[in-house]
Amino acid sequence: MGTLRQQIIDLLRQEAMTALDISQAVRVSEKDVYRHLAHIEKTVAGQGRKLSFTPCTCLACGFTFADRRRLTRPGRCPRCRESRINHPLFRIEE
Ligand SMILES: [Zn+2]
Repeated sequence: MGTLRQQIIDLLRQEAMTALDISQAVRVSEKDVYRHLAHIEKTVAGQGRKLSFTPCTCLACGFTFADRRRLTRPGRCPRCRESRINHPLFRIEE
């Protein structure tokens, strides 16, 4: 698993990607990507880097999930109840 996580770290140091992009690049399920990202967040923090991600926004009303700290995409917008939420873009900042 160390190697796979290192691959994801290398990808995210080069460019911002969604969990879906990552899952296709390293050939694991999107669900597993989120599991790895949770570990990667801790790993890179120990290296003085930061896993950052763009806040999710609702495509229907524009609501921004600014305070959200969880990595996974919210299922539903609290304002308009739509479930068209954009995918967060992850990247690793030095
Ligand atoms: Zn909304």
